[in-house]
Amino acid sequence: MSEASASELTCEARLDLRHLPDYMDRISDRLRSFEADASQHGQRIDFRFAFGGASFDMERLVMRANATDRDGLARIKDLLATAVEVYAREENPAIVWTGDLAGETRLAQFREMVVTGVRHLTPHMRRIRLAGDDLTRFAKFGGMHIRMLFPTREVPDPLWPMLGGNGLPVWPADDRRPVARVYTIRALDADNGIIDVDFLVHPGESVGSAWAMQAAPGMKVGIMGPVGRPVRPAQWYVMGADETGLPALARLLETLPAQTKGVAFVEIADHAERQEIANATGIELHWLTRDGVPAGEDKLLAEAVRSVAWPKDVSTFGWFAAEAAAAKIVREHWRDTLGLGRDQTLAAAYWRRGSAGLMAG
Ligand SMILES: Cc1cc2nc3c(=O)[nH]c(=O)nc-3n(C[C@H](O)[C@H](O)[C@H](O)COP(=O)(O)OP(=O)(O)OC[C@H]3O[C@@H](n4cnc5c(N)ncnc54)[C@H](O)[C@@H]3O)c2cc1C
Repeated sequence: MSEASASELTCEARLDLRHLPDYMDRISDRLRSFEADASQHGQRIDFRFAFGGASFDMERLVMRANATDRDGLARIKDLLATAVEVYAREENPAIVWTGDLAGETRLAQFREMVVTGVRHLTPHMRRIRLAGDDLTRFAKFGGMHIRMLFPTREVPDPLWPMLGGNGLPVWPADDRRPVARVYTIRALDADNGIIDVDFLVHPGESVGSAWAMQAAPGMKVGIMGPVGRPVRPAQWYVMGADETGLPALARLLETLPAQTKGVAFVEIADHAERQEIANATGIELHWLTRDGVPAGEDKLLAEAVRSVAWPKDVSTFGWFAAEAAAAKIVREHWRDTLGLGRDQTLAAAYWRRGSAGLMAG
């Protein structure tokens, strides 16, 4: 394994799985999509992340994690346990970590936040400012998003999650469990303990949008994160987003290096939804309006992104975040028609027409 030095935190969990080698390709693929370098040594596969290491020993049926700090170790335990739970589901894995941080019940990725401000950015976009303690981890690991945990009419006073012995969140009581939805950290000021989140206010029964509509200073909400895969560095990008992907796209345009080139399309309901974005890059930004067509029904965004010719002589990346049907069109075009790999494309469904809580986990 990634050699652990004396100052490092280490832990391990037995994997009583009959078919571990059968799952390893998918586990490996998933961990590599979180920027891990993988290397095989006989029956052992090692992974090296920027914040620590991990290994799967297929002979001794054990997985190990090491990191220099608690946040890093908690993150690796979470990534490994999630991958095993997802890909070895049919064997119902019982993961119990031993070693450093075993027995810890505080969930490293959770914070309780308080609303301190609400701004109407456009008729349908609310910027909500949240304050909380110790937010530095939300700038780590390359994830731009958070899982927000909302109180609801049915559960106005939820119990927040804790850390289970398997390295994953546990919920103290099912009948006091908050409802989760995924949102983007539009801006983070860890020194002053502030996170801004831009909420699209959309029609229909909802949790996140309904909460944002009546959010007021003093209200409490939980967040877990950061979640999401890092966006790969590239010299040229093609990007597409509807209103739900706009906070992430805007953050990328504000933070990618100035010499970055490419083209980005944002789909909005109408011109009143246009926002000022401090685009720090050479990526050309185009706004597309639905003008009366309901969200999720217009194919303009997917078609615009599909029509872009990718340059051959520079490193490239395709990034897309919108309704599920549009994301499928773009993903199929990039992966199947253009033959691009996962390392060059990320086409994500941020919501699905007619279905509640997509991706909230
Ligand atoms: C990684 C990621 C990051 C995201 N970041 C943001 C963000 O920063 N800001 C943001 O506003 N959203 C963001 N989203 C999208 C958001 O999670 C979904 O829109 C979610 O469904 C909202 O929850 P809700 O409780 O309001 O609606 P739900 O209870 O999930 O859905 C209720 C109904 O509303 C419909 N609905 C959901 N979203 C929309 C929509 N956009 N337009 C029209 N109808 C809709 C559903 O189809 C369903 O019929 C993100 C999603 C992901 C996966």
